[in-house]
This record gives sequence, structure tokens and C-alpha cells, in this order.
Amino acid sequence: MPTSSDPAQKNPQPPGYPSSWEFDGLLTTGEAVHVRPVEPADAGLLSALQANLTPDTIHGHCLGIHAGMSPGDASQAAGVVDYRSRMAFVAVVSEELVALATYDRLGPRQRAAEVAFVVASTYQHHGLGTLLFESLAEYARSMGIDRFLADVPAENTDMLKVFGATCLHSTQVDNAGTVRVEIDIRPTPQYRASCDEREATAEVASITSILRPRSIAVVGAGRHRGGLGHELVRSLLAGDFSGTVYPVNPSARAICGVPAFPALSSLPEQIDLAFVAIPATGVPEVLKEAASSKVRAVTVITAGFAETGRSGAEVEAELLGIARSHGMRIVGPNCLGVVNTDPEVRMKGTFTGLDPLPGRLALVSQSGAVGIVLAEQASAAGLGLSNFVSVGNKLDVSSNDLLCFFERDERTSVVALYLESLGNPRKFARIARRVGEHKPIVALRAGRTAAGARGARSHTAAAATPEVTVSALLRGAGVIKVDRLEELLDVSAILLASPLPAGRRVALVGNSGGPLILAADACEGGGLLVPELAEATKAALKEVLVPAAAMGNPIDMTADGTAATLEKVLETVLDEDAVDAVIIVVTELVALSAADARTTAARVAQHAAKPVVACILGGAAPSTTNNAGTAAEVPTPERAAAALDHVCRYAEWRRRPLPSKKEPGERFEGSAVREIVTAKLQASEAGGWLELDEAARLLEACGLPVLTTKAATSAEQAASVAASLGFPVVLKARSGEVVHKSEVGGVVVGLDSSEAVRTAFETMSTRLGAEMGGAVIQPMAPPGVEAIVGLASDPDFGPVVMVGLGGVLTDLLGDRVFAVPPLDPGAADAMIASLRAAPLLSGYRGSQPVDRGALVEILDRVAWLAEQVPELIELDLNPIVVSATGALAVDCKARLAPRPVGPGPLFRALRSRG
Ligand code: ADP
Ligand code: MG
Repeated sequence: MPTSSDPAQKNPQPPGYPSSWEFDGLLTTGEAVHVRPVEPADAGLLSALQANLTPDTIHGHCLGIHAGMSPGDASQAAGVVDYRSRMAFVAVVSEELVALATYDRLGPRQRAAEVAFVVASTYQHHGLGTLLFESLAEYARSMGIDRFLADVPAENTDMLKVFGATCLHSTQVDNAGTVRVEIDIRPTPQYRASCDEREATAEVASITSILRPRSIAVVGAGRHRGGLGHELVRSLLAGDFSGTVYPVNPSARAICGVPAFPALSSLPEQIDLAFVAIPATGVPEVLKEAASSKVRAVTVITAGFAETGRSGAEVEAELLGIARSHGMRIVGPNCLGVVNTDPEVRMKGTFTGLDPLPGRLALVSQSGAVGIVLAEQASAAGLGLSNFVSVGNKLDVSSNDLLCFFERDERTSVVALYLESLGNPRKFARIARRVGEHKPIVALRAGRTAAGARGARSHTAAAATPEVTVSALLRGAGVIKVDRLEELLDVSAILLASPLPAGRRVALVGNSGGPLILAADACEGGGLLVPELAEATKAALKEVLVPAAAMGNPIDMTADGTAATLEKVLETVLDEDAVDAVIIVVTELVALSAADARTTAARVAQHAAKPVVACILGGAAPSTTNNAGTAAEVPTPERAAAALDHVCRYAEWRRRPLPSKKEPGERFEGSAVREIVTAKLQASEAGGWLELDEAARLLEACGLPVLTTKAATSAEQAASVAASLGFPVVLKARSGEVVHKSEVGGVVVGLDSSEAVRTAFETMSTRLGAEMGGAVIQPMAPPGVEAIVGLASDPDFGPVVMVGLGGVLTDLLGDRVFAVPPLDPGAADAMIASLRAAPLLSGYRGSQPVDRGALVEILDRVAWLAEQVPELIELDLNPIVVSATGALAVDCKARLAPRPVGPGPLFRALRSRG
């Protein structure tokens, strides 16, 4: 990405320069910094950094930098790196080099390196030391280094704190005023948590300039109504924004009665947030001006950069470059703006006239139009918003950043997202999982992604489309994924108003039969239960209901039911142990008005420890004043049931058992696995499919039960291998490149003599030619239920595992389920249980039950392997034969690929500029 301010772009990169390690990160102040490997052209900047240093800002010896040396020496640091045994990262803000971190490997095969850190005095205590530590450690690990050593002057407590903050295992020995620190940089759960914590803190600081600004400029604020900038100023003023508003207009003296300024550079103070609502051609210039005026964030309303004569993407990349090299954040472009209803902020930063009620729902929309519709529907339903953010094209600020902010925003208790794309799905899932532990996230994801051209040849990879994978990712992360716009608010309404249900058992209470039956059908059809009530409860109901009333479940009060009856019935069913939630389905009738039903529902719901969802048919619409403190209201019984089902599923996720500490590592032969992987990647740099017997060997070393698979290169050898295994045997083409062996005559089963094996080998050779790649011989598998377990891994989406049952029928019926590793305890079993063909395992129509646990174990282990062996990017165990005595993979296809270069997708980096 060419920018005028990044010196790395001006000079040709030196050989071996690892450009995939250039990224932008956030400091604890919320400011963005650019981090990249050092290069010789940095020499001048390094001397400038060194000139700025005081002895106490030097932490150890930075590849020759030490206090009191000449600028010439410092510049050497850039010259001595080889990006392998000697490495240095620099941090750059506004063309100034503000920090340097280096490692120097102790020796060619040593797993330890000497490290040192230098941070310019003006950037100390901004989290720059830890950010560079994380970068250096991630890089070093990719080079096979797992220990850092540093000599730190004892008085340099700041540096010692940086090491401590990482939460890694370290030892410190004090030697006459110098502390020798030794750190094991292999990531621990505590280390990851501390990285996440720092990332979240930085995000909150960064997003605070956008959602809690103290001062706002509006660039492009015209004199006339209807102009976007003008309407923005008007909206901010009408909303009584708590800070200062500065209209920016080259010629007007005032806009909406507020003094205007000709340019951002002429404002009397440093601005937190600038809205940009001018024609696209002028936006890059305004961003440069904002950057040099030290504006902390911009919200670019402007859409359509195509008219600048360059492609929209090109201009957007330029905008991001300008912002990032000055530490500025961008919302948009092509967005409606941002709103915060906090009484202390009162920011109505949109031109749309949107005026949401204050409340506890944070709403984020990628589409402006959908955002308005949702915000208006929320208001109509009495749902108050804490914040509204229209993220537009998500050039920089994305839902990931906002989730971190809402996680700690005390006014937000539920987050609703309308998304069209996920920039970094794995990161999103990771953050969502953390946030979802205490604040539910409801997401509607529109716009189906076209299946990626992966050239998928395994069943699993072909079936694991991005859509399927994202769904699995979101489900695993506890995100409530809805499919329709109205569901987003229905589910949010229940979550906002109610405690989480303890189970799926619903009592239905109403005053007319038809709607109650609809509700019962919707509940039972959608996975909720409508249980019969206990005799004692029925007896209690009898006391308050007319004789014609139905006391089972649904409970029909009949047209005679009054508000008082409703209240007593509700209290009675809420007391019943077999009820986890109540749906009220009331039609306005003479005895009970809609308004009275609402009041009653609200009164009961307030004290209830179970969700009470009201569905009021007919009568006046609910009032649009803030409904805080009322029962959740959903317009129809079907929608109420669907929304409650989502809430139940979320509650189940929240109750899921904690991951067990025990890893299935017992039968894992780490060194054998490494050997096979390394051999393959050395033979072919890009990796590829393993031959059948190699795949079998790899999986065996991984602890998976695989049918004996022996290679043979000639008919004669095949015959003798077969004889040693014992007849009957199976002969197969050995090549991993043959996709469906049986379709091309590459599988012959039931060979019962050496002669038969020889003949089969020769026939197969003639038919397949060199493609056969020799043969493998297997014994015959025992009879059983055929299953498939697979793994597919994508650089963006990460690994996903799949399980299906029933051999060829799996494909025909699409009866398979996906999940993203790591699997929670019990998840593998639940996946298998959810297959339509699952009854095959427990003995279907007279067949013997088989060892289902053995299949669960295989699925669990494959999911575990996804993380242990990241080079294994495609795997099909198809079929696995599950019999009464165990499960055995009969065919296995495995593809290996080198690990991707650069920091991993979960690393604490902002969206890449590339
Ligand atoms: P591919 O999937 O490449 O066509 P497989 O190795 O899966 O090749 O063989 C195809 C089918 O042949 C299997 O689904 C299974 O029904 C049968 N088969 C393969 N190997 C054996 C074996 N060792 N014992 C019994 N049946 C086998
Ligand atoms: Mg197969």
C-alpha cells in the first residue's frame, strides 16, 4: 500500500524482508501505530530515535545500541538483521520511528535469543513495549525460538513490568544491579488472555474517541437544509451534544447559529471526531488535513469513490494508509453516522433524523438502509438503544472493534449486528465468544458468500463452504445467529427484558384457542417443549378459571379471562417447576383489553425469574415510550416461539460445561507426526496429498484407528504383502491424487488369493497407468455402519470439522454437521446425535447397535488435530466403519500445506491495509 509517509515503501525491500509481518496495532491510548521489520533505510530514523533516548529508556543492548553511543552506531542495527537469527521490529507514527525491539539468536540451532527493547520517551507507558514484545515473540516462535533472554538494569522497572505483563513463565536473577530475565515465550492460556485484555483495552480507548467524543467537527457543513453536513450539525445540536460542535465550511461564518471554521487546521482545539460529508474527490485531502491536525477519528459519510477516476478500492486504500500512518481511526466510508444516547454524551451523529430512545441495545449495521429500518423498528417496539453505529464499508472500524467497546460499555447489555461480511471471521468468533459469556450478541448475516475456489477434492472441503463454516464459527462462539430482520429485534427484546431460561419448557397462556394452538405448534415444531402441567398446578388454576377453560398446556382462560385472571394464572404457572418460560397469547376482547394485558404481563414479568414473552393480538399498538421494565413483546405467536428458541439455545451455550484440561494426547506420537509432515513439505514446498499409506501412517501416529494399509510397487510385491496380511484383501491405487478411487476402478475388494491380487494389480495398472502410483493392500474391513469424519482448513475461516453417516447417502441427503475446533466437551456427541441418520448407530430395524463412543472419539481427535497439526489442511476419513467393537478408518485422504507466513489471524493487529 503506497503512502507518502511510510519509508518502507520508498525503498526497494532488502532480500528476505518479511513483508507479511507489517501490520498496524493499537496502543493503550487508542492510537494506531505501524509495526514492521526494520530495514537498512531506517538507519537515519534509528539515529533520530537514539538521539531522543535517555539512558533509562534503553532496555538491554539492542543489536549494538546502548546508551551513549554515536548515532552512526545506532544506524547499524538496521544493517545487521538477517530476519532469521537477528531480527528487529520498529514502530512508526507519523514518519517518526518511536520504538525498536530486537532479538539475536544465541547460535544457529539454539532455541534461545537475547532480546532488547527501546521506546522513545514520549511513547512510554502507551503499551508499545508489550505490543512489540508480542510481535517479536510471535515472529521468534515462527523461527523455532522459544526462550527470550534479557539483561535489564534493576532500576529499569518499566521494562521488568513489560515482561511481567505478558504472564509468561519467567525467571529473574539479580546480578549486581542487572536483572537477568529468562522468559519461555511458548503461549499459555494466561498469555493469550493477557494479549486479549491489552487488545480490548486499546480498542476501548480507540472507539471512545468515536462513541464518546468531547469535540466534533463536521467537514462539509453547508448553509442549506438537506445537505448531509448541514443536517448532521443540526442533528448534533438538536440532540444537545454534550461537547463542542465545529462546523467546517470554507466560506460560511456560521452554520445553524454556531460559528464555522474554514478548515480543520483552523479549529481552536484538537478534535476527537470529525465527520466528513463532502464529495468523494476531496476526501483524501481532508483526511490528510485531519491527520496533521491530530484528529483522533473520522467518520466518512461520503459514498462512491469511483467518481474520482480511480477505483473505489484504490481510494479507500489511500484513505486507510493516511489514517493509519497517523494513528487515526476511520468509521465508514459510505455510512450514516454514529449515535450514543448516553445522557452524558447525547451524540446524534447522523443526517437521517434518526432519534432513537435511550436504552441498553447496541445496534451495528453494515447497511445504512437496514440500519435505519432496524433503528426505527426498535423505537416502534419501545426498544431503547445505547448506541447505533453505521459501519458502512468497514474500511477500518469493524464489528470486532465495536464488540470490544460494547463489552465494557456499562450502558449496553445486548449487541445486535447486521453484517454483510466478516473481515476476520476467526478474530470475530474469538471476541464474540468472550463477549457472549456475559452479553448476548444477536447477528443477522446477509449476503451469501460465493463458495471459495479451493479446488476442494475431499468431501469435507467441498461441503465446508464459507457459509457453512461461518455458521459453525458463530454457533461455537455463542453468537445468536438469526435469519430474518425481524428476528434480530424479537430476540433482542426477550434478552433485554428477561432472565435467561433454565430449559426449553414453555407454558402458553391466552384467552382464545386458535392463537394458542398456533403457538403450541410453533413451539413444538421449533424445538421448544409444551409440557403437561403438574396436577397441583392444574388444581390451582381450576380455582381461578371458569369451568370451560383448558387447564393443560396451553392454558386457555377463554373469552371470560380478565386482567386479574391473567395475573393469577401467570403467577401459578411461573411457580411450576416444569415451566422454564411463559408465552402469553392474548387477543383483545371485551373482558381483557390489549393495554390491560400489557400492564399485567409487565407487572408479573418484573418479578419473574423466568422469561415472560407477550404476544398481544389486536387492540392498540404498544406505546413507543421506552419499554424498559415491561415484558418482552413479540407480534405473533410464531415469532415469539422462534425468538424464544434462539434465546434457549444461547442459554444452553452459556451453561455448556467448561473445557476439560485433559487433552487427548496419549496416543499422539509427536515426533513421528513432525517427521512425516516435514518430509512431505521438503519434497514439495507447496505440500499436497499424501499417498494412501503415508496418510494412514500419519493418522496412526496421530492416534486415530486406521485399517492396516501397506504399500506395494509391483504385482509380485502386492501378492506377497497380501499373503502376509491373510486373505481376503483389498487392493487400491496408492496415489493420493486419485480423488474417487472406486469411480475409476482403483478399488478391488474381496481378493482371496495371491493370484487374484496379481491379476487385480495388473488390470488396475493397465487402466490407470502412472496415475495409480503403485498400490496399497488392506485386509477386509469388518461390517458396520459407514461414517465420514473430515477436516478442512481455510486461511481466513480456519479449521472446520464435519461428521456424517450412511456412506453414499451422506452426499445424497446432505446429512452432515460442522463445527469449529476446539470442540466443547460433549459437542462431538451432540453433533452425531443431530444427524438424521443417527438412529443407525443405536440399532435400526433389527441391526445391532454399534460403538458410537468410538466415532465420537475419532471426531474429537480430528478436531484436536486441527490445532496440533496446522499443516493438515484437508482430511477425509471416508468411510469409517463403525462396528459393535469399535470404529476403523478404511480410507483416508490427507493434504498438507505449509503454515501461512506472517502473524496469525488472532494476532493483535488491525485490519490489514493490503
Ligand atoms: P474412494 O473413496 O477413493 O472411492 P475407498 O477406499 O473409500 O475409495 O473405497 C470405496 C469403497 O470400497 C468404500 O466406501 C468401502 O465401501 C469399500 N472398501 C474400501 N476398502 C475396503 C476394505 N478394506 N474393506 C471393505 N470394504 C472396503
Ligand atoms: Mg473413500
